[in-house]
Amino acid sequence: MSATSGFVSSRGAGDPLSFSAALLQGLAPDGGLYIPTRWPQLASADFAGRQSLPAVAARLIGAFISGDRLAPQLPELVAEAFDFPVPRVSLSPDDRLSVLELFHGPTAAFKDFGARFLAGAFSRLREPSDKPLTILVATSGDTGGAVAAAFHRRPGIRVVVLFPKGLVSPTQERQLTCWGDNVTSLAVRGTFDDCQRLVKEAFVDEALRERTSLSSANSINLGRLLPQSSYYAAASLEVFRHHGEKASFIVPSGNLGNALACLWAREVGLPIGEVVLAHNLNRTVPDYLASGEWRPRPSVATLASAMDVGNPSNMERLRALFPDPAVLRTQVTACSVTDEEICARIRIGYEQYGQMWCPHTATAAEAWERLPEAVRAGGRWVLVSTAHPAKFPEIVEPLIGRKVPVPASLEALFARPTHSTEIGAELASLSAVLKENG
Ligand SMILES: *Cc1c(COP(=O)(O)O)cnc(C)c1O
Repeated sequence: MSATSGFVSSRGAGDPLSFSAALLQGLAPDGGLYIPTRWPQLASADFAGRQSLPAVAARLIGAFISGDRLAPQLPELVAEAFDFPVPRVSLSPDDRLSVLELFHGPTAAFKDFGARFLAGAFSRLREPSDKPLTILVATSGDTGGAVAAAFHRRPGIRVVVLFPKGLVSPTQERQLTCWGDNVTSLAVRGTFDDCQRLVKEAFVDEALRERTSLSSANSINLGRLLPQSSYYAAASLEVFRHHGEKASFIVPSGNLGNALACLWAREVGLPIGEVVLAHNLNRTVPDYLASGEWRPRPSVATLASAMDVGNPSNMERLRALFPDPAVLRTQVTACSVTDEEICARIRIGYEQYGQMWCPHTATAAEAWERLPEAVRAGGRWVLVSTAHPAKFPEIVEPLIGRKVPVPASLEALFARPTHSTEIGAELASLSAVLKENG
């Protein structure tokens, strides 16, 4: 039996918590993000006979959570959460360039992995006698849809999604408002920042907390980040089995949750080589790598909107892993891509490979294009594809000159009737809604 695993705040305060406790807590009390106290070490041989994503995930996550109350249920949890395909599509006969498609889940973006794992974990951690749990999510787009889908119709759990009225795309709005049942969609008369502020105010309002048992499903939750390491493990093991070489990943990045999952998988010993962070015009991270100075700033709007982040929350986890900027530079590289380059890459991706890329995936493709020829030719490069292009038809279709076929899962979702309640951007309005359907 190994030492019990635990998780501590990236800011260092407090005793280590179990995985379940860290997951229920969300953000650490000192404002930090939970990180492992130690890195389990796994060799490729530890995954012998495990090829499917759930089989790899159970071994990988299991190594982090030994002794936790969720551990015995982990194989069942990951089998249920990761029940859709995750193909790695080769773009060259020698398999030196491929695309890892993370968009075959219910809402057609990689956030389904974390949201579905978290939902399964919350369901299992609840006792039947517990008060109903209300999950509050403020969303500017993708997260709310993935979380709503993952928690839809789960007994004893209610989801309240807050989005800025009129400020999300029509496709996103449909995904936020098509659920019903235990999901309440609130169109807030305000901005995304107002939505986030309301959620924070609700959490510290004693009267409200007295009545309602509140939790969050933010992307900083450990229960969303750690499960994402599974697809990096599975893809790198596949490359290693076929070619005896490490896989290098190019990750479209905003808040760095997806990228950290990749770095954590490498830290544990999986056969992962280079990790490249592909950012849009929000250059906070590439600038930090270049200068060593951390200068967060307001975000700017780009075509790859799910990565419009000026102050990436998971930076705390990245700096906890590699505190010295000089060391960090040897471990990851980062680049910044303009909207024009994204458009050009979507066009070329279709001409050259017959691929239809969403703007986020195209950012990764552009980052690959910029690598020195020798680096490209010597590596096993995997572009991480974070969303299905059908979520961005207004951008992709004019560039490739054809309609993007809509996958069945999205089609089903688009066919559902939508409903939302409009509220003002003050806590009293949110409170009233929570009381009503509490
Ligand atoms: C959220 C998101 C990203 C950015 O992921 P982070 O974990 O925030 O870095 C990239 N692409 C898509 C489609 C997303 O939804």
